[in-house]
Amino acid sequence: MPDKTLTIIGGGLAGSEAAWQAAKRGIKVRLFEMRPVKGTPAHHTGLLAELVCSNSLRSADVHNAVGLLKEEMRRLGSLVMEAADITRVPAGSALAVDREAFASYITKAIEAEPNIEVVHEEVTDIPDGPVIIATGPLTSDKMAGTIARLTGSEHLHFYDAIAPILDAESIDMTVAFKASRYGKGGDDYINCPMNREEYDAFFDALMAAEKVPARDFESVKCFEGCMPIEVMAERGRETLRHGPMKPVGLDDPRTGRWPYAVVQLRMEDKEGTSYNIVGFQTRLKWPEQARVFRMIPGLAKVEFIRFGSLHRNTFICGPLFLDETLQFRQRPGVFMAGQVSGVEGYVESAAMGGLAGINAARLMRGEAITPPPDTTAHGALITHLTKTEPARFQPTNVIFSLFPPLEKKLRKKEERREAMVERALAAFGIWKSNLS
Ligand SMILES: Cc1cc2nc3c(=O)[nH]c(=O)nc-3n(C[C@H](O)[C@H](O)[C@H](O)COP(=O)(O)OP(=O)(O)OC[C@H]3O[C@@H](n4cnc5c(N)ncnc54)[C@H](O)[C@@H]3O)c2cc1C
Repeated sequence: MPDKTLTIIGGGLAGSEAAWQAAKRGIKVRLFEMRPVKGTPAHHTGLLAELVCSNSLRSADVHNAVGLLKEEMRRLGSLVMEAADITRVPAGSALAVDREAFASYITKAIEAEPNIEVVHEEVTDIPDGPVIIATGPLTSDKMAGTIARLTGSEHLHFYDAIAPILDAESIDMTVAFKASRYGKGGDDYINCPMNREEYDAFFDALMAAEKVPARDFESVKCFEGCMPIEVMAERGRETLRHGPMKPVGLDDPRTGRWPYAVVQLRMEDKEGTSYNIVGFQTRLKWPEQARVFRMIPGLAKVEFIRFGSLHRNTFICGPLFLDETLQFRQRPGVFMAGQVSGVEGYVESAAMGGLAGINAARLMRGEAITPPPDTTAHGALITHLTKTEPARFQPTNVIFSLFPPLEKKLRKKEERREAMVERALAAFGIWKSNLS
């Protein structure tokens, strides 16, 4: 057994899972978590794996990409999933947890694990030896400076304003229509046309909707290009009609004329399975996003793959720096995991932490590291982190459009999802059987 210690920086979702997976493989781990000695703008406790916002780990259905990812994690003996399953609270088809019980369960399990030493201290430099950096979206300033020196500061993004992403199949195409402004660019956009009454009702609902309260770290001056839609609306009733909802150059096939206002949807993936709402970055509360944005004609029954948000998000441009094992290409032995590596979400962060822990353990034991196949949810995230064109790289949740298409074309969405899940779990089983 190696006598070296694995250093893990950050005891959030990714760092805790990484420590667990490495320790279970016989590796001595020193896990640094700066809380409660030094806080972040969003965490409230000194517990490991604290959930900073929602208490939901999203869909529990395995036929949903995040449900599949969770199932793969369970098969790896994930501590985060064990804690979630034990501290689950009723939440329909979602896996939601009692956040205090969840973080306490993980903290106790890690503290009781003889191979893990927890040190409550801020790390400001990358130490020698095998290291996993898992300092999250709210990485401390000094550590962010250290990462910036490794990657170049232009590659360390700080603010992330995101618009909701919608499931294409849930858009009502008897109302919405495909077109580009003035016909330039073919049928690239889906357009949701509004008449005056619909626009007025939407505007009033948007103005009255509940927003996530501003936190200190969020009181930043936004660039004009990433201003939340509701902030822009506050400038006046007409502002949106001259901004993201301008109707010019878009003939509605039902009337042959330009509508009063238009909401445009842009493809998220090549296959067109998901679309984002152009210019609709928002900090409305998630249920309010569902309620207000479903007032848009064509979106009455729309399914949200991801809700919009605006928050600080420190992340590197993974494809420029990371290899498929999550190690820095220029600095072997230094791994990066969790949100700072460029995934989005509690579950995704924990999953990448688990992989980094397994990979670091294998490296320290002199074993070969094989990334999970790209047809699995873990593998699809690795592909996103390492193979996306760098200029287009943005943090993402796990979604089926990150997976390679099925060889066989299937018409029904349920059938496609079932086939994707079957393919993923079969490949994951083979990959896992080769792990020790
Ligand atoms: C405000 C906000 C709200 C969010 N809401 C949601 C949500 O509702 N649902 C969702 O799925 N995702 C949400 N996310 C996104 C993301 O999934 C979570 O932030 C998730 O916790 C990321 O996991 P992580 O392990 O990468 O980071 P974290 O869980 O944040 O863990 C990183 C840890 O590193 C510690 N740390 C930082 N710097 C240092 C240092 N220098 N030395 C030692 N320790 C350090 C921090 O204290 C923290 O405990 C949100 C993010 C933010 C910022």
